[in-house]
Amino acid sequence: MPNAFFQVPYPENEPVLSYGPGSPEREAQLAEYERMLNQEPVSVPMVIGGRNVTTDDHRPLTPPHDHQRVIGHAHFGTADHVRAAIDAALEARTGWAALSWEQRASIFLRAAEMLAGPWRTRINAATMLGQGKNLHQAEIDAACEFIDFLRFNCHFAQEIYAQQPESAPGIWNRLEYRALEGFVFAITPFNFTAIAGNLPISAALMGNVVVWKPSDEQIYSAHVIMELLHEAGLPEGVINLVTVDGPVAGDVVFNHPDFSGLHFTGSTGVFRHLWKTIGENIANYKTYPRIVGETGGKDFILAHRSANADEVVTGIVRGAFEFQGQKCSAASRVYLPDNLWPEIQEKLVAEVGTLKVGTPGDPTNFVGAVISRRSFDKIQGYIDFARNSDDAEILCGGGCDDSVGYFVEPTVVLAKTPHFKTMEEEIFGPVVTLYVYPADDFDAALEMVDSTSEYALTGAVFARERYAIDDAMRALENAAGNFYINDKPTGAVVGQQPFGGARGSGTNDKAGSYLNLLRWVSPRTIKETLTPPRNYRYPFHQN
Ligand code: NAD
Repeated sequence: MPNAFFQVPYPENEPVLSYGPGSPEREAQLAEYERMLNQEPVSVPMVIGGRNVTTDDHRPLTPPHDHQRVIGHAHFGTADHVRAAIDAALEARTGWAALSWEQRASIFLRAAEMLAGPWRTRINAATMLGQGKNLHQAEIDAACEFIDFLRFNCHFAQEIYAQQPESAPGIWNRLEYRALEGFVFAITPFNFTAIAGNLPISAALMGNVVVWKPSDEQIYSAHVIMELLHEAGLPEGVINLVTVDGPVAGDVVFNHPDFSGLHFTGSTGVFRHLWKTIGENIANYKTYPRIVGETGGKDFILAHRSANADEVVTGIVRGAFEFQGQKCSAASRVYLPDNLWPEIQEKLVAEVGTLKVGTPGDPTNFVGAVISRRSFDKIQGYIDFARNSDDAEILCGGGCDDSVGYFVEPTVVLAKTPHFKTMEEEIFGPVVTLYVYPADDFDAALEMVDSTSEYALTGAVFARERYAIDDAMRALENAAGNFYINDKPTGAVVGQQPFGGARGSGTNDKAGSYLNLLRWVSPRTIKETLTPPRNYRYPFHQN
């Protein structure tokens, strides 16, 4: 242990590079994208106890925008591999949990610097290829947000460890922030490379050992993350990557007595199923597992009659269609006052008509392909439902083409009833539904926004009138964990807007803040009496 209190470098958000025409970063990034697209398909092993593990069950990895092109193969495992990953994690636990926190933090700070420098183009290209993000979307996720998670979490860990109790005279009280007793299971979604990295890493930073199951659609960049962590010096067995079908992994993990925490991000239905399974097994665990889940959303934009139409239109276009609407925070239900409707309709339809759809290799494209066949079919189903309904009208978009990639045009639906299906259910694609309300009944609109969906992740209010903003903040207090005023409801930045929602959207443990890290420690209180009494009698016993 060091003979000093060290301080991690004060974190700052990683600057987002512009990738403007002629910029060196644009050339370098596009060159790396092309190189990775055209190289020999890569082989992606599991990583268990620091060893690369291959199997006979290798499945093709294909870009969503070019689904016949094979860029790699992932080796899928069985229940035995999950058991081996748990054993490897538990074996690594003693050394890792006992390592001083500064040593652990150093590894992740080093990973952040590598990502900011030589690994930046590689992680971005992997995210463009495997998840279909354009230059900017890859940059703000795989590079900047991931770097921010790494740097800020080290800072937050330091702040947590510094929190100590008071001590009465003659006593020294201490609080020690132990790692959880057992292993943490991280299950991650396809849509953010940063989240995929952060879920296992945040638990590991606090001294835990982890079994990580990535989404089948994010395996390509998960592979880069494991190589990065290896290069940064993460000891063997601390984070073990298993590419296994979800239920196979769950069946082993949730029946294991040393299971001590679930760090999940994904859909609400899956999370509820996992929580139920854990509940059914609760008596079998050595300790009560921590359950952290950030899940789905049906995120809203509400415009007041005093709003500026251009600001609302920009909020809708960026909020609903960036990364094809596949952000948990994406705007997908919009409430517009009838006084602004004619102007907003005209401008919105015109703007959406300018959005270019295509591959990430062409930086002029705003919208790319959606992640998978399953996703494409689901989104198309919602569009067809709207097209065939008397209660809705498609204002623009609606085209779907899966001949080369899973492309869905940015689509704007106008609903005639506020409870139309696409106003209520998470679609997770480039589809936004609008509802026009009477401008002079803002209170009714607030009630509608609050009660329409089971989710409560993000939401935005556009208004110039301050009383309206105040009313909205009050009425929608529980409708969104991340509430925006005159801004789109996406794009939360680590250290600035801690992220997460309640109701059906998750446990609201706020990724990118100290609140999340607190879930991965089990404090031990230590009381030391400096001059212990040597006689059991209290003064009141004396005559
Ligand atoms: P998903 O629920 O389909 O999958 C998430 C993960 O769970 C994947 O790794 C998947 O393989 C795994 N999984 C599925 N069934 C499982 C089972 N029975 N046992 C164990 N693991 C299982 O989600 P997705 O399509 O990857 O991501 C999109 C969803 O994630 C959306 O609902 C979105 O709103 C949500 N999301 C939420 C946040 C947030 O912070 N609230 C952030 C990103 C994504």
